[in-house]
Amino acid sequence: KKLIIAIDGHSSCGKSTVAKDLAKKINYTYIDSGAMYRVVTLFAMRNALINNEKVDENKLSHLIDQVSISFQYNDEKQRHETFLNGELVEDEIRSLDVSNNVSLIAKIKFVREKMVAFQRELSKGGGVIMDGRDIGTVVFPNAELKIFMTADVEVRAIRRYKELKDKGEEISLDDIRENVKKRDFIDENRDESPLRKAEDAIVLNNSKLSKEEQLDWIVERMNE
Ligand code: C5P
Repeated sequence: KKLIIAIDGHSSCGKSTVAKDLAKKINYTYIDSGAMYRVVTLFAMRNALINNEKVDENKLSHLIDQVSISFQYNDEKQRHETFLNGELVEDEIRSLDVSNNVSLIAKIKFVREKMVAFQRELSKGGGVIMDGRDIGTVVFPNAELKIFMTADVEVRAIRRYKELKDKGEEISLDDIRENVKKRDFIDENRDESPLRKAEDAIVLNNSKLSKEEQLDWIVERMNE
């Protein structure tokens, strides 16, 4: 049977890495729900709808139907890529600018409703691994396997630091640590779909686990 596997957890704890590797290993489709919120954020920024940490929700509600999100796997680059109305925006949506604003967009109710509908649409038929914040709680409360991933703040900040540095973004570890903590706080304390461990989710703290150990851990649970 083709299952739905929900992976939720904090920012930068390696959810997407594990989800992608697992999808490849068991031949499932990987869906990055965070990328969707990032695309809407980029769209809002480009249309000057975010000013002083405030979103012009009224305008966004009128413009959001102009946002079409799609994903494609790039064989050459061996990476999953995200598109906004057909334009490749994979790198842009990972910038610190977008990361700093995405929580503002992700707490808007009509944005979440639209994203959740799209996430369910893409998952028809199962065989999907989706990572995010509310996948096991809101999007797929009946998912066959739910994993709640976490890692220590310092471990996460250092991982993110290395990732951005590899991409040529020079940002201090202090700024990144602040961004990680701020996103945790906003994600856990927002009214709409706050980040929570689903009751039936199993916790994976990967601060001290290698990629292979994490995959093995999940595959064991799948076979239980
Ligand atoms: O997973 P990623 O860090 O790319 O997600 C970006 C942001 O999108 C998160 O900080 C969170 O605010 C939001 N998000 C969400 N619900 C999801 C996935 C992401 O609110 N299912």
